[in-house]
Amino acid sequence: MADNKFVYFFGGNKTEGKNSMKDLLGGKGANLAEMANLGIPVPPGFTITAEVCVQYLKDKAYPAGLLKQIDAAIARLEEVSGKIFGNDGNPLLVSVRSGARVSMPGMMDTVLNLGMNDITVLVIAKNTDNPRFAYDSYRRFLTMFGDVVLGIEHEKFEHALSEKKRSLGVRQDTELDVNALKELVEEFKLIIEKETGEKFPQDAHKQLMMAINAVFESWNNQRAITYRKLNNIPADWGTAVNVQAMVYGNMGETSGTGVAFTRDPATGHKRFYGEYLINAQGEDVVAGIRTPRPISTLKEALPAAFKQLEEIYAKLENHFRDMQDIEFTIEQGKLYMLQTRNGKRTAAAAIKIAVDMVEEGLIDKKTALLRIDPNQIDKLLHPMIDPKANLKAAATGLPASPGAAVGKVVFTAEHAEEMAESGEKVILVRAETSPEDIGGMNAAEGILTVRGGMTSHAAVVARGMGKPCVAGCGDVVIDIKNRVFYAGYCMVNEGDYISIDGSTGHLIIGQVPLITPEVSGELKTVLQWADEVRTLGVRTNADTPNDAKVARDFGAEGIGLCRTEHMFFGENRIPVVREMIMADTEASRRCALAKLLPMQREDFVGIFRAMEGYPVTIRLLDPPLHEFLPNHEEAMEKLMELQKKGAPADEINKVKKVMERVEFLKEINPMLGFRGCRLGVVYPEIYEMQVQAIIEAACELSNDGMSIVPEIMIPLVSHVKELQIVKKQVIKIASDVMAEKGVKIDYKIGTMIELPRAALTADKIAREAEFFSFGTNDLTQTTFGFSRDDAGKFLPAYIEQSILEHDPFAVLDQSGVGELIKLGIDKGRSTRRDLKIGICGEHGGEPSSVIFGHKVGLNYVSCSPFRVPVARMAAAHAALQEEEMNKK
Ligand code: PEP
Ligand code: MG
Repeated sequence: MADNKFVYFFGGNKTEGKNSMKDLLGGKGANLAEMANLGIPVPPGFTITAEVCVQYLKDKAYPAGLLKQIDAAIARLEEVSGKIFGNDGNPLLVSVRSGARVSMPGMMDTVLNLGMNDITVLVIAKNTDNPRFAYDSYRRFLTMFGDVVLGIEHEKFEHALSEKKRSLGVRQDTELDVNALKELVEEFKLIIEKETGEKFPQDAHKQLMMAINAVFESWNNQRAITYRKLNNIPADWGTAVNVQAMVYGNMGETSGTGVAFTRDPATGHKRFYGEYLINAQGEDVVAGIRTPRPISTLKEALPAAFKQLEEIYAKLENHFRDMQDIEFTIEQGKLYMLQTRNGKRTAAAAIKIAVDMVEEGLIDKKTALLRIDPNQIDKLLHPMIDPKANLKAAATGLPASPGAAVGKVVFTAEHAEEMAESGEKVILVRAETSPEDIGGMNAAEGILTVRGGMTSHAAVVARGMGKPCVAGCGDVVIDIKNRVFYAGYCMVNEGDYISIDGSTGHLIIGQVPLITPEVSGELKTVLQWADEVRTLGVRTNADTPNDAKVARDFGAEGIGLCRTEHMFFGENRIPVVREMIMADTEASRRCALAKLLPMQREDFVGIFRAMEGYPVTIRLLDPPLHEFLPNHEEAMEKLMELQKKGAPADEINKVKKVMERVEFLKEINPMLGFRGCRLGVVYPEIYEMQVQAIIEAACELSNDGMSIVPEIMIPLVSHVKELQIVKKQVIKIASDVMAEKGVKIDYKIGTMIELPRAALTADKIAREAEFFSFGTNDLTQTTFGFSRDDAGKFLPAYIEQSILEHDPFAVLDQSGVGELIKLGIDKGRSTRRDLKIGICGEHGGEPSSVIFGHKVGLNYVSCSPFRVPVARMAAAHAALQEEEMNKK
């Protein structure tokens, strides 16, 4: 590295860096250089590269030649600024700031006013004719240097400051006079000596090297490490360091400092937006001690500076072609830009800005699409907690279904329905939900469960309904007898208000203010653009005509999964379903099924109608039958109640029989047991009824002139022979119905691939299946051997310890489950070249999983209605990324 360049100067008339050098100079350094190149006034300075940081952290030593380059840069800085670093009649003070490749706001350290010492403070006091300003700057510097560079607790300096104010009977820092500040400076130096065993370093060059080291080291402080983890920032990037001449916003009424955005970061509207303070330093704006003024009023306060600022922000936005977040300081009427970067923005603003910039000709549609994070779209479709509200979560669970909700606590589904009927807003709080709770879930504003993961019943159903859900909130303890629950130290009674945020997993006691984002015309526009570039189809998981309609409005191109079991839970159906399950003989089972037939047919008619012209994949019954029965404890309670009131023997016997059946069907892990096509193999009459209902519905609509495209899907197949057996039944029933009705329906038979054995033998299975749909919920559970309902007990620890990066039930595990998917696709298409393949697990609406689906050659993804727009955007990103790759 001996001849390498480690230091890049900016400002004056020779700037060495530029915007494209972010990897080396960090975002801040590269943009400072770019501004200098554009002729925008920035305080001069230099950037030490992130490469040096990496080497320094590794070897605890600098590369050869670095010190020489720093000395040369200081000399040039002295030349450009006309000031001298160290003791002089015109001393140069500098700031030393971190600046990584991507912005990590507030995560690393900064030192301001470096170069101050016992001599320069006197000179500054004299030159500015403002001793108070000089000593105030000195005491601020000692605090920052002590804290950041020497590692002394900030509290120690704060304590001395408070004591000083107390002894003088003043409350604000600004009320301290110069003598008090001088005393504080002496006290602070003593604190430093006491804590470090050494005197405060008076030499400016020594201060500088110590500060540079400290900023490099702050790359590895806990805050920064956590932030990197959360934002997937590699640890080996390191941070650059920017050393820059200080400018002062606190030099009187013609000085000031502020932050601003070139467009409104909340709404995206094209207006200069921001705030400033007169006679203040940057940290005063951030600290919130004084209330900043809106930027528009700067026009009256300092008109010349404001005019220049307006010109600069327009220039910056045009140059970077994106909304900028800028920081500026005005020193005695002269404007300096301290920073510019692409501004963070809300989801609504991101979309508006992208569309507006295309219209203004600043960017093209593809750039606009890539600027919109698909995850952000989800936020636009659900109510959310007003970001202005400052709230504390009483407990945190899994963010299972996005959006926020407020309502009164209810503990049972029936109660939820009753309360909702009388106009109350409720949150259903359950240990876990079962299909029986569907009515209550529908009536509730949101759902909170103590147990269950991202693919638990509550999560899947809530997402389907577009309702907020916090699942697996293990810190909540329900005491159902006393109708209360506990969350930490809080006790919450039934009927009390709570709020949940299904986007963060937070439970908040009480009512929080919600805001409902408007679905704007701009959103429709960007989704249309997404459709123009994507090649991956997007379908929906929907079980009711209403869900199907919502999904169509969101742009779904068919149904990828209709879970027929959800149709079994209607109020008038559950008794018939139970009758079917309780039946001892095939004949009595068929009798119950005959009652279900017209109901199912009606459902399919509704769904086909809503999806006219698009494919509808209907999965035959999948869950284990005991899910349709009351649970054992409930049946037991009922039995005891009947016995207590001396009910007639036949009534008691009925309940006893239910209990026997429950006992018989009970399984240790029902997700692996007697379900899926195993039901079809053992009780063929159930699937027969369903196929009859599907084909009859299709015939009915076909007679009305509609184009119906049913795809009958067999769940949980592990062996091709299972599929062969069930397929035979399906074909027979379908042919019989079509013959009877005299109608020909073009239907398909396919299967879900949701067990490893199915993926491994996909070539054989594809000979029988006309389509595949990867059920990645079950495939994840069976590949990992994690139960999808109780993995929540240990998954947080797995993520905490970095065994897994994400919950694999939410974000597809590409290196494990993904490999099985690739294998399944390759093998499947090896025996059926045109095999249509989709995915319908919860991952079908998760952006990174959608992008994976595109890469491995899926034809479509299928997800809950509210995630359809997210999937459309993610699919567009996938296509654009591929286009970029092909260019390289
Ligand atoms: C799956 O397993 O991924 C799937 C879609 O089916 P279900 O969630 O209904 O088991
Ligand atoms: Mg499944």
